[in-house]
Amino acid sequence: MEKVIIIRYCELHLKGKNRGFFERQFAINMERALKGIKHEIRRQSGRYLIESFDEEDITLILSKLDKVFGIHTLAVGLKVKSDMGEIYSAAKQVCPKSGTFKVETHRADKTFPLNSMQISAQIGGRLLDETENISVDVHAPQNIVYIDVRENGTALVFSQFIKGAGGMPVGSAGKGLLLISGGIDSPVAGHMIAKRGMSIDCVHFHSYPYTNMQAREKVLELAKILSQYTCGTTVHIIKVTHIQEEIHKKCNGEYMVTLLRRFMMRIAERIAQKCSAQCLITGESLGQVASQTIEGMTSSNSVIENLPVLRPLCGFDKNEIIDRSKDIGTYDISIQPYEDCCTVFLPKHPVTKPKMADILAEEAKLDVNALVEEAMGTLEVVKF
Ligand code: ATP
Ligand code: MG
Repeated sequence: MEKVIIIRYCELHLKGKNRGFFERQFAINMERALKGIKHEIRRQSGRYLIESFDEEDITLILSKLDKVFGIHTLAVGLKVKSDMGEIYSAAKQVCPKSGTFKVETHRADKTFPLNSMQISAQIGGRLLDETENISVDVHAPQNIVYIDVRENGTALVFSQFIKGAGGMPVGSAGKGLLLISGGIDSPVAGHMIAKRGMSIDCVHFHSYPYTNMQAREKVLELAKILSQYTCGTTVHIIKVTHIQEEIHKKCNGEYMVTLLRRFMMRIAERIAQKCSAQCLITGESLGQVASQTIEGMTSSNSVIENLPVLRPLCGFDKNEIIDRSKDIGTYDISIQPYEDCCTVFLPKHPVTKPKMADILAEEAKLDVNALVEEAMGTLEVVKF
């Protein structure tokens, strides 16, 4: 009898011609998550088994797999020989000691002498006889003992499913570039898009020395947490200090955030080209702050030449975003006080509904191309 972890993936999405591609990517991602931990991953029709691990590593393995997108459910179970005596011993071990239960059997091995109904009836009957405080309820049981008789002469026996991360395997839906700040929102936005199978690179803008080194460390820490879900990430770091000084010196201060955003988008598109990202991702949420109006988004979108900009949080309330950031483990870091470059030279009254003609008039006071080029020269890269 051997402890195994049974993994079911989100199968609905994996039908059709691409199935093999999804499955290979999924297996690669699980291997990556479990790197350095003793284990073997084996594929069985419609599921994966993790085997040959040390029992004391189970919690660690589950915590790693908890962050792998594409997993529908996980269950810790027992693998035994396809023999009714062994199956019963395993069922006895996994069956809860009280409450109502039923046995559900799936039989892939059609040569096994009993059919699935007979297996369920015999094992269930014996469990009932030999366990004091349990009773059968076939319609709404508190617990289900699952028996899966495989074709290779083994059977899997398990009882409780743990919900997996869901979604699609990262790497199956292209690559996006996340504009990551030190705040609560952008890591959540990256997590949401990664969940749909997209690989994520990050770009962060700082205005050192107006923003300090802790702000930078904080962003790197957020990216590191995100990288556990995204199968690694590369953070591109760009200094925008001179751009902000130029805006401050030459333009109407009310347009600081609007103009800076447009620079960020231009630079992000350049970085996306460099790292083959196919879209930009931001943590903007409609109406959350003064700059996140539809007019503000129109203004920042209009400098992007080719790429779509995904804003997965647009329809979310702040509370919903906070709940998600707590779930993924970025919240405690995000709430540490920090300076974002958007808060440097912040005007008392930023424009909330910037008019395009006014933005262009302000921007005309700057040498946009030279400033973008200069900022690109400050690029630093950190990999996780
Ligand atoms: P967040 O919590 O993600 O910081 P926010 O509510 O503070 O968002 P803003 O500061 O208006 O909102 O930023 C909106 C979006 O712009 C961010 O979610 C992020 O995608 C991008 N952004 C803002 N500042 C930076 C930065 N310094 N570097 C990279 N991207 C940034
Ligand atoms: Mg912010």
